[in-house]
Amino acid sequence: MADSPDITSVLTEGRVFPPPPEFSRQAHIKSMEQYRELVAQADRDPEGYWGARGKEEIFWKTPFQKVLEWKSPFAKWFVGGTTNLSYNCLDRHLATHGDKTALIFEGEPGDQRRISYREMHAEVCRLANGLKSLGVQKGDRVGIYLPMIPEVAVAMLACARIGAVHSVVFGGFSAEALRERMNDAGAKVVITSDGGWRKGAAVPLKGNVDAALPEMPTVEKVIVAQRTAKTAPAKGPKDILWNELVSGQSATCEPEWVDSEHPLFILYTSGSTGKPKGVLHTTGGYAVYVSLTTRWVFDLKDSDTYWCTADVGWVTGHSYVVYGPLMNHATAFMYEGAPTTPGPDRFWEMIARNKITILYTAPTAIRAFMRLGDEHPKKHDMSSLRLLGTVGEPINPEAWIWYREVIGRGRCPIVDTWWQTETGGIMVTPLPGATSTKPGSATLPLPGIKAEVLDKDGKPVPLGSGGKLFITRPWPAMLRTLYKDPERYANTYFSEIPGKYFTGDGARIDQDGYLWVMGRVDDVVNVAGHRLGTAEVESALVSEGRVAEAAVVGRPDELKGTSLVAFVTLKKGVEPTAAIKQALSAHVAKEIGAIARPDEIRFAEGLPKTRSGKIMRRLLRDVAAGRQTTGDTTTLEDLNVLAALRNEEE
Ligand code: ATP
Ligand code: MG
Repeated sequence: MADSPDITSVLTEGRVFPPPPEFSRQAHIKSMEQYRELVAQADRDPEGYWGARGKEEIFWKTPFQKVLEWKSPFAKWFVGGTTNLSYNCLDRHLATHGDKTALIFEGEPGDQRRISYREMHAEVCRLANGLKSLGVQKGDRVGIYLPMIPEVAVAMLACARIGAVHSVVFGGFSAEALRERMNDAGAKVVITSDGGWRKGAAVPLKGNVDAALPEMPTVEKVIVAQRTAKTAPAKGPKDILWNELVSGQSATCEPEWVDSEHPLFILYTSGSTGKPKGVLHTTGGYAVYVSLTTRWVFDLKDSDTYWCTADVGWVTGHSYVVYGPLMNHATAFMYEGAPTTPGPDRFWEMIARNKITILYTAPTAIRAFMRLGDEHPKKHDMSSLRLLGTVGEPINPEAWIWYREVIGRGRCPIVDTWWQTETGGIMVTPLPGATSTKPGSATLPLPGIKAEVLDKDGKPVPLGSGGKLFITRPWPAMLRTLYKDPERYANTYFSEIPGKYFTGDGARIDQDGYLWVMGRVDDVVNVAGHRLGTAEVESALVSEGRVAEAAVVGRPDELKGTSLVAFVTLKKGVEPTAAIKQALSAHVAKEIGAIARPDEIRFAEGLPKTRSGKIMRRLLRDVAAGRQTTGDTTTLEDLNVLAALRNEEE
């Protein structure tokens, strides 16, 4: 284990919000007693607990013989079982929910489609038959490069139906990122569309595929859906139009019953801390875990209209836009475009009009909306909302409170869900009918999940202290490996403490056992002998009131070893002045102490983020030190932001 002291926590956030009694009464998990009983069951007999969940959650064509086979660091779950995820998302519900709306789709231009479970099933079967007609077989890899339109869910489910392995590439990625991922997967087919609407313009997806195609030797066919063009897109030699492929195909297709450990998808991490990792998930364990967590964490009911704003290009889109809601015969809302097109209230207007009941989004979006001002959400009647969720980054208490008050009008519980591409599903989170929440804390691990904060000797830190966050027991939705790179898998996740999954994140555990994720261990700043997590200093900056977003990094300093540099984005209409810098510095000193006072504060119009919206502090470290950018920038959202930060320096 690396020889480093543990992480010092400086944040003190004392607010506590118990679940509203009327929410608890109707919830799937109603009380802490119920939660604790489940935790105790799972701790007494983890395999018994997961075995029972495995049988309850999904349909198995052949029952599994053994719950877990753990040859550290490699796991097999529900060994010997066969199943099919598309069957579990669709066929299983046809008798009881066939006419229920599975998906309400809204395009950026305002077009709407409602697709029932029966219609979705037919679409998926047609495409599955179409893929088979192109020679796609069980185990073949299929690339999916589509906007947020229903076809993306249909494509994923069609792959799952025939046992093909999908690799979804976010539609905002370039031709180069697509090429890398498709070549890594050895994709046989790519499914794309002519384009997708974003900020009023058509994103040229097909153009990017065409640009990458000469260098994607394994790709034999490109399936092209029509979305933005008025006429059918032009066809190259490898192209086939989606409509032509599916027309004439049967609307039934026998699912391929695959082994529980059959690969389901490859998906790349966001690249916040380095080159993205190609995470491999398999079928049975993922399905069981995602089905269960969707119902418990979002307290999902048949009467809900659930909206997770994540793009399917990220794991959140896989687990909680497509698979989780469909396994629970839910009605999910899907939106194609930008959050502020045509106006800054697009989200709120859609929530009001579609009577959305559950909203799951990211801190980066919440901070962006805060920056735009309260008047936009306040214009709309969002009384349909009953639950709010966040994922992706630590949420600053300030943003959490804003979410609660301005979006949830003080009525809705908030579930701050901590998890990763690698974990497949939510790991640490409140259960909204049971857990009292604290702004900025993801609270407690789900039953069956053993999340521990360990010190440098691998021992649990005392309550109130910080350390590294590990998951110390296998769980059904864990990644099985990094695609074609089991060695990197073992090194990245299981070498810090042999046999224990290292998350890469730092966390603090408070007196109540609540977890506070403090950011990446890579981002921890060593100041005067204290190792500080970035999240806490950033939260202090944001709580000053005029700051929309902040990122804190360390810069090598001859005297102190490391000095703290804060990059700060101000709220709309606030003028950057030297007086604000002084006020911010004093505020941090007051909130968390003089050691966390930034040595330098820089105002920025924007911060460098991944395409999934996460702040890339590793790039800011280079900027702060006046170095050239080192490391991978393929997932950077906007190169101009980096250039602007460098110019401001001069
Ligand atoms: P890479 O692994 O390539 O650096 P990434 O870690 O950003 O990218 P993801 O798997 O999309 O890729 O993100 C998982 C990470 O996001 C977690 O490890 C954690 O740092 C952060 N995260 C997610 N949810 C939360 C949350 N609720 N609170 C705090 N941090 C969170
Ligand atoms: Mg990661």
